[in-house]
Amino acid sequence: MHNTVFIFLLVTAALIFILFVYAGIVSLYEKEKRAGSRFFSLALLLPLLYLLIVFISFPYQQVIAVILLFLTYGSGLVMLIPTGKNKQFRDPVPTTQIDERDTMFSRNELIPGTDAFKAYYHRKPEHKKPDDNFREKAGLLQPGTSQYHPAAFASANASFETIEALRDKVNGPVNSKKTAVSAEEISHYIKSWAKKLGAIDCGITELKEYHLYSVGGRQERRDKTIVNTHKYAIAITVEMSKEMLSTAPAAPVVMESGQQYLASGVIALQMATFIRNLGYEARAHIDGNYEVVCPLVARDAGLGELGRMGLLMTPRLGPRVRISVVTTNLPLVTDEPLNDYSVTDFCTICKKCADACPSQAISFAPQEEINGVKRWQINQEACFTLWCTLGTDCGRCISVCPYAHPDNLLHNIVRTGIRNSSLFRKLALWMDDYFYGRKPAPAPLPDWVNVPPVSDN
Ligand code: SF4
Ligand code: SF4
Repeated sequence: MHNTVFIFLLVTAALIFILFVYAGIVSLYEKEKRAGSRFFSLALLLPLLYLLIVFISFPYQQVIAVILLFLTYGSGLVMLIPTGKNKQFRDPVPTTQIDERDTMFSRNELIPGTDAFKAYYHRKPEHKKPDDNFREKAGLLQPGTSQYHPAAFASANASFETIEALRDKVNGPVNSKKTAVSAEEISHYIKSWAKKLGAIDCGITELKEYHLYSVGGRQERRDKTIVNTHKYAIAITVEMSKEMLSTAPAAPVVMESGQQYLASGVIALQMATFIRNLGYEARAHIDGNYEVVCPLVARDAGLGELGRMGLLMTPRLGPRVRISVVTTNLPLVTDEPLNDYSVTDFCTICKKCADACPSQAISFAPQEEINGVKRWQINQEACFTLWCTLGTDCGRCISVCPYAHPDNLLHNIVRTGIRNSSLFRKLALWMDDYFYGRKPAPAPLPDWVNVPPVSDN
């Protein structure tokens, strides 16, 4: 065999070995046993193919060796060459606003027999039957639910009660002495400070009418028209722990939700207070006290796209984030939306969340036109009813999503390929199913959660 071909075969075998061993080590570190064992097995098997050609003599050996090398490097290049990416894409704008009273958390607050309860179901009789259904269940974070865990539920409640204690702090007095700012510099400062405070990302958009709920649906905002004249909205994302989410739908998921709603909310509260200290109006939008639809604001602020499960899909963590928002009149420089068609394209073929959803709330169908926008919409009644049975906010869809893997070199190479190439999207989906499973089983609870420090008498 020609020396050059010989060396190429050996180098290729070594590279494949190193790549798969690296992927195996990363997987074990991520506690992905199935992926780890498969990467290690392939690290041994695949290089064997190249070594056999090097060390066993047979007819047409050189020709077969060249074809194998061509296929190896050629397929790698094909996967990296941008294809199907430049499809003209601009997320359209919804034609109507969402009424917060139609959201499940608002409907869950209605107390049977009250005037608000009667008024709502008089106006929306079609919601009465599905809502009676979730009201028959034990309810979120309640004893008697299938995932009840006294310590974990008490921990989650501790986060939600802290958020509740902060809910009136979203607004406050504005310093009468206005500080002159440069829009460009203060925008840069805000984004950098948000990250210093713990955010994963921060983006700015103009506040549009469709970002705002038309009418409030929680607590004192119920039945009140939402009026917010701020010009800008700052969206902030924080990471949800992969380890806690991978136990979905068990109790650590709702602990994590509570913690990250609080974390994102605290950053928004600090940001809004800071802006008011500079002499400009600002309102924080935190869990339970939103005037805005956070995923729409975050998408327009360039932090991600909306996926099949209706959540924000961020470039580095997929849906594994929580969002808070600050609206303000502080002069700011806006960011461009990503307009990344690859997310829609990948969600169209993937459907992993729909397969894994225990309540069949996620559609397998292509996007449909809703409020003038082609998108996916989950069956929120089915989803929420399951939450009231589990006692947690489930999160199976987030935990199985191929975009939700940790933010590291291994997964970022795959994310880059997904963004770049429609061919690679198909391969990436196949690989995700092969290495992690089409419906991966929930991970065991972390040891420190698994041994409950308290129990019910
Ligand atoms: S699981 Fe698949 S279909 Fe669902 S949101 Fe994630 S990428 Fe899209
Ligand atoms: S949270 Fe659970 S029930 Fe709701 S859509 Fe996701 S997987 Fe389905």
